Amino acid sequence: MNQPVLGIIGGGQLGSMLSEAAKKVDIKTVVLSDDPDAPAKNFTNKFIYGKYHDTKIITEFVNSVDLVTYEFENIPFDILNEINKSKSVLPKPEINSLIQNRLTEKDFLNKNNIITTKYALIKNKDEIKDNENLLPGLLKTTTLGYDGKGQYKLNSLIDINEDIDFTKEYILEKFINLKKEISIVICRFGNQKYEIYEPIENVHEDQILKHSKIPAEVSETIKVKSKEWAKQIVEELDYIGTLCVEFFIDKNENLYVNEIAPRVHNSGHLTINSHNVSQFENHIRAVCGLEKIDTKKIYNAQMINLIGDDITIYRNKTFKENEFFYDYLKKQIKAKRKMGHLTIIEK
Ligand code: AMP
Repeated sequence: MNQPVLGIIGGGQLGSMLSEAAKKVDIKTVVLSDDPDAPAKNFTNKFIYGKYHDTKIITEFVNSVDLVTYEFENIPFDILNEINKSKSVLPKPEINSLIQNRLTEKDFLNKNNIITTKYALIKNKDEIKDNENLLPGLLKTTTLGYDGKGQYKLNSLIDINEDIDFTKEYILEKFINLKKEISIVICRFGNQKYEIYEPIENVHEDQILKHSKIPAEVSETIKVKSKEWAKQIVEELDYIGTLCVEFFIDKNENLYVNEIAPRVHNSGHLTINSHNVSQFENHIRAVCGLEKIDTKKIYNAQMINLIGDDITIYRNKTFKENEFFYDYLKKQIKAKRKMGHLTIIEK
């Protein structure tokens, strides 16, 4: 059988790593990006630059692929839905639209008895006052926020200030006294068929992921429950491909889902070196209908994100045999921008 050509929307580091994984299983990729210098340009078989709303570009993209996936979740639903009419889009566009909004995402989780932080929809200042019980809390835009972008910490009502742009919609989320953060990366191939990685322990700095490691130092109860919830989420969504669930653990050992990423995830980068099949290869296998391979850990590992200027030091470093340096080849170094990562395996 001829292998399908896979279209990937988004040309960042996730698109690059998906393209690399696709090569390993003989799948050709076409990356569509709205950035002419997108890193994935260096890794994909074909690169198309254009705006996502440009129908000519979308037609060119759709005509050059057999199916489509995406590396970031903030793609307008109407675009994914339109593409899905001619070429299958996986994960399904409806899933993406449910998850890209923090309110519908949290409502979905709670409807399925999965615990999240307490939250409320906020459209104006008065609604914050009506929800004072959620303070200290974080005000987050319902859409388009990531890595702490579009977020305000409110310790009390005094912190409501003029900077908050109320033309946008927010959720107010109760602040959790965090003990730890973990994530579960899971890849679903079909009904009750999935590969699931063990919990990954994550440390954030300035709301950006800085460090990940396996094994996560968490109780057996947390390990079991986090995996159970991740399986429940992918089954409920009838999801195909790799998905990541991010969790909070508070000082009293309570587990909460923070958010879901309907895609491969930064905390799963270490799986490239720690496992026989990475989160990227599993995603490619699942969406392209290839064989599911028993995914096993070979090494314990940790990953350090190289943010902003960190990259210049690493570009000139020599590495040990158990260290794997990834440079995303981004044209411009910017503060708070993920520029690369280093994975260290325990041999
Ligand atoms: P998010 O963009 O929602 O994933 O938030 C980024 C990071 O901010 C999380 O990984 C946490 O470290 C921190 N954070 C977000 N929401 C909360 C919360 N409700 N309580 C405590 N810390 C939070």
